[in-house]
Amino acid sequence: MMADIQTLEQRLEAITVQDENSESMGPPKQKGALATALSLANLNSTAAQSRLKLPLQKLAANSAGKTAQSSSNVTKITLPSQAAQQQRISAERASDLDPVAATTQIQQQPKAKQFHLGMFEIGKPLGKGKFGRVYLARERSTGFVCALKVMHKSELQQGKVEKQVRREIEIQSNLAHPNILRLYGHFHDTKRIFLILEFAGRGELYKHLRKAQRFPEWQAAQYIAQMASALRYLHKKHVMHRDIKPENILVGLHGEIKISDFGWSVHAPNNRRNTMCGTLDYLPPEMIKPGREENWYTEKVDLWSLGVLTYEFLVGEAPFEDTPVMTQRRIARGEMTIPPFVSAEARDLIKRLLVLDPEKRIPLEEVERHPWIIKHCLKGERAYARSSGEKEKPSQ
Ligand code: ATP
Ligand code: MG
Repeated sequence: MMADIQTLEQRLEAITVQDENSESMGPPKQKGALATALSLANLNSTAAQSRLKLPLQKLAANSAGKTAQSSSNVTKITLPSQAAQQQRISAERASDLDPVAATTQIQQQPKAKQFHLGMFEIGKPLGKGKFGRVYLARERSTGFVCALKVMHKSELQQGKVEKQVRREIEIQSNLAHPNILRLYGHFHDTKRIFLILEFAGRGELYKHLRKAQRFPEWQAAQYIAQMASALRYLHKKHVMHRDIKPENILVGLHGEIKISDFGWSVHAPNNRRNTMCGTLDYLPPEMIKPGREENWYTEKVDLWSLGVLTYEFLVGEAPFEDTPVMTQRRIARGEMTIPPFVSAEARDLIKRLLVLDPEKRIPLEEVERHPWIIKHCLKGERAYARSSGEKEKPSQ
């Protein structure tokens, strides 16, 4: 048993991640390797980049394969109580194919059980982020397939993102929605933190979009409907994501989308974050203009990003894509043009989302029953007709 765990540990240490993202998807939109901190103030002096990231912290040089060397400098990283975690992964073999059933069963497990690395068989690397490597994994006793994200505490400390990771864990472990990536649990050892995540079988939406260049309207509409549903769920729980973009959306085995990456998300009240985050392309005007800080914390920011996303799905590039200075200026003015191949209905929705005044953006409930969504999502239409007490139209 001990040997078993050791082998696993060694394997995990030894594995070098072939980052799936590094395969070429065309030059302009490669994800940046290590995004450097950048404030809006010094944007003017920054070379134009098509996809500029503005994370909060300046990250110290942080080579990818590095493991935590000095354990003396690995200090406390407090995680949400493990005791509070349910034993979420058991008897799941059959539910692999049925995420809803899996979720229900997982939540019904009464007794908390501590997870540890030895409980998992580690499979192929799925990808690599700024702070984490993600592996396909299988829980040994049940065969439950998941994704295991491994983060080194020393790197989190160096990058000053411990708080952010803790928040990500706290928020994500309390969410259960078919279009939000589940976080089943977490555990840690002296050097690393492990997140047990739902496995998104079809990988990054970003890649699918680059490959397709742009999505057909029916597909974009179905994705946007799923996004709206997930965002409505989040907002109901007073969580705003604030980093909606194709890079943060994964695709499940059945083609359904899964919002991931809650690193920049916040619970609506009581957050004092005053630094910028996210890709410039997706920033709403209220986060660009100085003196509007109070608006950073309303969920309306996600509506703007949803508009940008709708546009990018249909057009293949973000609406304000330009040099950083110009992007900023254009966002502040809401300056964009929608190409003629975009349908009138889609155009209408984009224009109702990309509204400068946050209060005037179309609410999510209306997004879900917008003519463009209805046209392409029959199921949604029926559900809406039922829930609103309307009679379904007889089919012509
Ligand atoms: P960043 O650190 O910039 O946020 P990221 O979000 O890509 O980067 P991770 O969340 O660590 O970083 O994920 C790295 C990659 O691993 C992802 O881009 C994706 O390709 C893959 N991946 C992550 N989680 C899963 C998952 N649950 N299922 C399938 N693939 C995943
Ligand atoms: Mg990410």
